[in-house]
Amino acid sequence: MSTIEHLRHTRTEALALIGDLEREAAAIAASTAGSPDDEHDAEGSTIGFERARVASLLESARVSLAGVDEALDRARQGNYGRCDQCGDLIGEERLALLPTTTRCVACSSARVTARLPRRPLASPRR
Ligand SMILES: [Zn+2]
Repeated sequence: MSTIEHLRHTRTEALALIGDLEREAAAIAASTAGSPDDEHDAEGSTIGFERARVASLLESARVSLAGVDEALDRARQGNYGRCDQCGDLIGEERLALLPTTTRCVACSSARVTARLPRRPLASPRR
């Protein structure tokens, strides 16, 4: 399977997952429609936990879908596999592992290094 085919497949799966999670979220909302006060309901903490779990999964599925859509857009424009920082080709191995990445290894690690604190985290400032 080529990387683009893999992205299309991932997109289909993400859409299906989002559909399932939206149905699950709607079912939770419907089950609590009569009693908006979770706090005093014996089932409240369970329902609150479920609602948070589904919302979190939905959020990450949408983020993942957005990344796949961006990658497919880049493919349509002929820019897929090119680093958006330096313009070099992103290695095939990297794309196989991270099909939605927009940076080559060098630019990606330069960005991570720039975000690292200058002092070790273990020595607090006084
Ligand atoms: Zn680069």
